[in-house]
Amino acid sequence: MISKQNEILANEPIQIEKAEKAAQIILALQKELKERIARGAGPFLAAIYDEKGNLVAKDSNSVVQEKCSHHHAEMNAIKAAEQKLGTFDLAPYNLSLYVTSEPCIMCLGGIMWSGIKAVYYGVPSNRVEEITGFDEGFKPDWLNEFKKRGITVYGNLEPQAGEEVLAAYVREGHKVYKPSR
Ligand SMILES: [Zn+2]
Repeated sequence: MISKQNEILANEPIQIEKAEKAAQIILALQKELKERIARGAGPFLAAIYDEKGNLVAKDSNSVVQEKCSHHHAEMNAIKAAEQKLGTFDLAPYNLSLYVTSEPCIMCLGGIMWSGIKAVYYGVPSNRVEEITGFDEGFKPDWLNEFKKRGITVYGNLEPQAGEEVLAAYVREGHKVYKPSR
């Protein structure tokens, strides 16, 4: 059920044109993320687009800035999209979420409840954890679980660009926020 091509990971047969278009969006998000980190944002950025390619919402991680553990980029962007469209159900809008790194355990839940129809991500969670020390949670077989619910996933899109942003975040001494254990 899982397709792999040139390192891209997907839960449907890979459509090259779709993957390439998504990779360009992810690269642009990585570039914007660098600028947002310099202004105090956390190291993740998510954008939601409609099927015509119009931007619906975009936001970065604001856990430290807003003192809230669930203010991840995906959660912030979903909330902004729902408030903009005036609904808790995004499904009728056929929206796609693009995010600079693979969603964590919480954001997978947030995406599932939102009605988002497709997810495109950059850096895989195992690399996020290796580079930054963030804990991304346990997510057994999530690509297939999303497929069962009609949510398309393409991942590992241009991961090197994202890994560089994450490595710089750590190198520059920004906060790797997490609960004390
Ligand atoms: Zn998250």
